[in-house]
Amino acid sequence: MVAVSLHEVINPATEAVVDRVVRTSVAEVDAAVARARAAFPAWAAVSPGDRARLLRRFAAAVDADGEHLASLEVANAGHTITNARWEAGNARDVIDYYAGAPERLFGRQIPVAGGVNITFHEPLGVVGVIVPWNFPMPIAAWGFAPALAAGNTVVLKPAEVTPLTALRLGHLAMEAGIPPEVFQVIPGQGSVVGQRLVDHPDVRKIVFTGSTEVGRSVMVGAAATMTRITLELGGKSANIVFADADLERAAATAPYAVFDNAGQDCCARSRILVERSVHDRFMALLIPAVAGVRVGDPTREDTEMGPLISAAHRESVAAYVPEGAPVAFRGTVPDGPGFWYPPTVLAPVEMSDRAFREEIFGPVVTVVPFDDEADAIRIANDSPYGLSGSIWTENGGRALRVARGVEAGNLSVNSHSSVRYWTPFGGFKQSGLGRELGPDALSCFTDVKNVFIST
Ligand code: NAD
Repeated sequence: MVAVSLHEVINPATEAVVDRVVRTSVAEVDAAVARARAAFPAWAAVSPGDRARLLRRFAAAVDADGEHLASLEVANAGHTITNARWEAGNARDVIDYYAGAPERLFGRQIPVAGGVNITFHEPLGVVGVIVPWNFPMPIAAWGFAPALAAGNTVVLKPAEVTPLTALRLGHLAMEAGIPPEVFQVIPGQGSVVGQRLVDHPDVRKIVFTGSTEVGRSVMVGAAATMTRITLELGGKSANIVFADADLERAAATAPYAVFDNAGQDCCARSRILVERSVHDRFMALLIPAVAGVRVGDPTREDTEMGPLISAAHRESVAAYVPEGAPVAFRGTVPDGPGFWYPPTVLAPVEMSDRAFREEIFGPVVTVVPFDDEADAIRIANDSPYGLSGSIWTENGGRALRVARGVEAGNLSVNSHSSVRYWTPFGGFKQSGLGRELGPDALSCFTDVKNVFIST
């Protein structure tokens, strides 16, 4: 008899065990990849209309299951119920959006002498999707939906600590009529399951979202077989507030741009840069706004921030606020069990401070002053990361100049929005490679084939 290895899934708000999930072995990964490979030709040959219909049915199944999916995420990841509902809705919308793709995967006819030249967007084969624990549903869907739509088969590995919604999505796909070998979900350890997917010669593409450190090792591993990769990695995004901004609105919204999902957000605006002339006034507005963030039971409709994902992660976050750190404000958290960490504002900080330079991935924000537009851009770009950022100003020309000057993939002006499923998302510099979402993502799941026909 083979012993089955189980992973205990913990509710981060209560520390209770909510489920036990199998850890997939290397042999089982190989078997899943073999099934996906065998299923690929038939899936790629499904007529575009039928593939679209299956994906629409999948989206409808996710919609019907939305409240259940959301409650699974609250229990598994400690997300607030409001956020979890949005996340389930985002997964549904992404599947629905890419259901439009099979019938629109156009090639081109390019004029040539002596014949006809046409291009095709051919699916790649087996795609491995490796997902982190911070947004399990949306990030899974950003990978598997366009991959399936383009005619690939998918093997998805959720993060070890947050497998429940991915497993449920796999089940819903099957109920919607997508063959089980076409979309498989295999939970397990990164160093075992994730690594095997990267190394497997029959996996043609890896979509990896996670830390820059592991992303680098995925890139190295993929080089051996020229496996295509999309990497969505870490961030240390700037929220730049100019003196001419609507300061009240900038300060009222800044906490949510970094403390949403307890700061466990790759797009968290964790460096607030404020024009020196309004720095003190901005701080006076920011502190009450941070104090107003409602931290607590994530099942409550009015809760705005839940716990961190694990005790180990809380330790790593706390290490950025050692004894004597310049804490300008620290919020409160519930007593009792749960991996809580209070919303924390650090100011003034040195730009050499670890808390200002490194991705904390928790509810800790740093504030520094800047002198002028050029100085703001210089500080914003003084980072190996380049994922996201916000610019607050009432001057339209400045908004555009700064947006063009900041080296980041997703910027917002007078807003903190980073993600819309129909617009491209991804990082500059060490924040990633390739783009997800929007119309362009499909090109990351296909190779262009050129065919010349002599006439
Ligand atoms: P992580 O890198 O530890 O793990 C991510 C995934 O990779 C998990 O499924 C993990 O099991 C797997 N993995 C671990 N080792 C592996 C290996 N050797 N080979 C293959 N797979 C392996 O990241 P995390 O702690 O789960 O997530 C937090 C990080 O993710 C943060 O740095 C955050 O910024 C980043 N992130 C980026 C984006 C983005 O879109 N840019 C989105 C969300 C999170």
